[in-house]
Amino acid sequence: MRWSFPVGKIFGIPIRVHYTFLLLLAFIWYVEASMYGPETGLYSAVFWLLIFVCVLLHELGHSRVAQSYGLTITSIVLLPIGGVSQISDIPKDPIKEVNITIAGPIVNFVIAGILLVLGKFFNSSAEFSKASLQSGNLIVDLFWANLMLGLFNIIPAYPMDGGRILRGILAMKRNYIEATKLAADVGKLFAIGFIVVGFFINWWLILIGIFIFSGATSEAETTVITSTLEKVFVRDLMVTDFKTVQLDEPITVVVEKALHTYQNDFPIVVDGKFVGILTHASVIEALHHHMHEMKVGQIARTVFPRIGPDSTAAEALRKMRLSGVTVAPVEDDGNLLGIITLEKLIEASDLLTSKSDQDEKHEPEKTL
Ligand code: ZN
Repeated sequence: MRWSFPVGKIFGIPIRVHYTFLLLLAFIWYVEASMYGPETGLYSAVFWLLIFVCVLLHELGHSRVAQSYGLTITSIVLLPIGGVSQISDIPKDPIKEVNITIAGPIVNFVIAGILLVLGKFFNSSAEFSKASLQSGNLIVDLFWANLMLGLFNIIPAYPMDGGRILRGILAMKRNYIEATKLAADVGKLFAIGFIVVGFFINWWLILIGIFIFSGATSEAETTVITSTLEKVFVRDLMVTDFKTVQLDEPITVVVEKALHTYQNDFPIVVDGKFVGILTHASVIEALHHHMHEMKVGQIARTVFPRIGPDSTAAEALRKMRLSGVTVAPVEDDGNLLGIITLEKLIEASDLLTSKSDQDEKHEPEKTL
C-alpha cells in the first residue's frame, strides 16, 4: 500500500504503518498536551498507540486463522481508521470465511477479559463500572476500548467483520454473489445510518459511514467480477493479434502506431522473447513531461506477474491487481502467446454477469 512504511514481520507477515497514522498520534498528543498539559498529552498518545497494538492483534487473529487454511497474507497495514489484512484470496467457503472473520473481534474480547482480570486482581484503583476511554487508568481505558472495538466490528455492516460474517451465513443458503450483494446492501443502510447519526453525535461516525459505504460498493463489485471470472480461462480472453514495439524505437513513432490501432499497450519482443510492455499510461506521462526524445526501452515496464494461458481469468485479475498493472503478458514456457488487459477482463465479466442475469430471468431469446 502506498504511503506506508514497514515496521517488521510477525508470523512471516510484513506489518506496515500508514504515514497518516503518525500524523494522528502527533495530532492527539498536541491537542491533549496544549489543552490539559504535557502529562495528559503523553498519556493519550501512549493510549492510542496501545489501541493500535490491539488493532494489530485483531488483524493477526484474522491472519492466523487464514494461515491455518493455507492462505497467504501479503501484509497487514495499520491506518488511522483501523487495520487491514491483505489476504491473497478470501476463501469462498462460507464456514472458513466466518471463522477467519470472527477471530478478529474474539481477540478484542479476550484482551478485554485479560484486562478485566488484571485490573480486578492487581490494580485496586481500576474502576470498571463506568464506560469511559478517559478515566486516566490505562487498564480501564484499554478494557473499554477493546470491548467497543469488538462490539463495533461485529455490527453487520459489510465490509466490516460483522458484515462478512453475515455474508458467510447468507452464503450457506444461497449463491455467493447474491449473498455478497445482500450483505453489501445491508452495509450501505448501516453506512447511511452512521452518517446521519454522526451529524448529531460524532463526526468520526460520518467518516466511518463514508468508509463503509464506499467499501461495500467496491467490494461487492470486485466479488461479482472475480466470481464470474472464475469460470473463464485466460486463453479465451487474451489478445493474440497485436503489434509490438522495439526497445530503441522513439516513443513518437509508437504514438503514430497507436493512432492506427485499438491497441493501448505494446509488448516489446526481442528475439521472440517477451522483455516488457510499453503502457499507454507511461507514454502519456512521458509526453506530458515533454520527453518526446525518449526511447521505448527507457520507459517500458519490465516486471510483470507470471500468467499462463490455463490460469482462470479471476486468478489473472488478482495477480494484476496485486502488482498494480493494467496489462500483462500471457506466457507458456517463456514464449509470449498474447496479452491480457484489465479492460478485457472487466468487459468479459460485464458480459457474463448480464448473461447470467438473463438466464436467471428465463428469457433465453435475449441471450448475448
Ligand atoms: Zn477485523
